[in-house]
Amino acid sequence: MQEFTEEQRILKDMMRKLCREKVAGRAAEVDVTKEYPWDLHQLFVENGLFNIRVPAEYGGAGMDYTSACIVVEELARVDGACANTVAHHQAGLCCFMDGANEEQRERYLHRIGEGSFLVGFALTEPNAGSDAFSLRTLAVDQGDGYVINGSKCFISNSGLTDLYVLFTTVDPARRRDGITAFLVEKETPGLEVGKAEDKMGMRASPTCQLNFSDMRVAKANLLGEVGRGWELVVQSLTETRILVAAMSLGIAQAAMEEAVSHAKVREQFGRPIGDFQGVSFLLADMAVQVECARALIYQVASRIDRGERDQRYFASVAKCFASDTAMKVATDAVQVLGGYGYTREYPVEKMMRDAKAMQIIEGTNQIQRIQIARNLMKMY
Ligand SMILES: Cc1cc2nc3c(=O)[nH]c(=O)nc-3n(C[C@H](O)[C@H](O)[C@H](O)COP(=O)(O)OP(=O)(O)OC[C@H]3O[C@@H](n4cnc5c(N)ncnc54)[C@H](O)[C@@H]3O)c2cc1C
Repeated sequence: MQEFTEEQRILKDMMRKLCREKVAGRAAEVDVTKEYPWDLHQLFVENGLFNIRVPAEYGGAGMDYTSACIVVEELARVDGACANTVAHHQAGLCCFMDGANEEQRERYLHRIGEGSFLVGFALTEPNAGSDAFSLRTLAVDQGDGYVINGSKCFISNSGLTDLYVLFTTVDPARRRDGITAFLVEKETPGLEVGKAEDKMGMRASPTCQLNFSDMRVAKANLLGEVGRGWELVVQSLTETRILVAAMSLGIAQAAMEEAVSHAKVREQFGRPIGDFQGVSFLLADMAVQVECARALIYQVASRIDRGERDQRYFASVAKCFASDTAMKVATDAVQVLGGYGYTREYPVEKMMRDAKAMQIIEGTNQIQRIQIARNLMKMY
């Protein structure tokens, strides 16, 4: 198991305390109301959760990738929705950091570094989900800038986001080589935040459509080069897949703890149910999966921190394993709690709903398996 540094241990303890004392008590309520918890948002701003990865010279904490994983793991342990908000900001931020030129950094990074300015990642479209090369949101060069028309769907943090990293195509026929990224501020005329999805889980984390109607974007807002947007997607997805894995780990850990606590006190046939092999083996299997996920995630995160950027294969392995683990552990936790687990009185049914999203976002687990298998063919 990867050892944490002193700084990372302090961060983990701080997050554990913050989440237990301030976030955990709100999770069930905002899951029902679907309302974004602005008070918690403010708490996250005050504790620097949105600028943790921003370099110190721009006002951020300048912390490493492992630290970002610690933050989302601990948040997900008490609420998947809050963790999703922080993780998806990191997705947009990662694209920004990779693609922004000096002028764009000066324009935005100080604001992001202040800690309340959110960056969004807008790739998915109604007809371009797994097949992201099929983007139809069209950016037409008008000489002095671009005019963009189209729509996006399932965009996390829509409405909260200050700056979207928007992926368009300059020519659908060019597929991957047409993909072009832009920085789009939330107030840009022609941008409309559309329908909010009524989701199964992660309910307090807004997921909406974005519509673009003759939206004009200056050339100065081109992120990276025309036709090179896919490179930004790839690096961002690599990093955020590990964050999704860390979120999954938080959910799985919490579900396991709930199951163990219940198994120790719930008695049937005159004994705690944890004494029955049928239950204890379920708990043991949870631990095996959770510990493997933890070891894998923090190993990959530390590789990124050491500057080994090409972690696409391991990011897919970690995302796939950890999210399948979260789904399995949360489902089994419901089983251990029996009828009580199936009610909203206990938190495990919410964990099961939140876990399901982990198998879908940042590329479904089928897409991860395709990636992994392709790599295997090259490796051996
Ligand atoms: C809560 C939530 C938050 C999200 N946040 C964002 C965000 O912030 N930004 C963003 O851009 N997107 C976001 N998404 C979108 C997400 O990335 C997509 O939903 C995901 O990539 C799958 O695309 P799709 O929904 O169109 O499914 P489809 O691509 O239609 O897939 C449907 C099914 O077919 C399977 N499938 C597709 N192709 C293949 C294949 N070749 N082989 C085998 N199986 C295949 C899939 O695995 C899946 O099971 C979010 C989604 C959710 C649910």
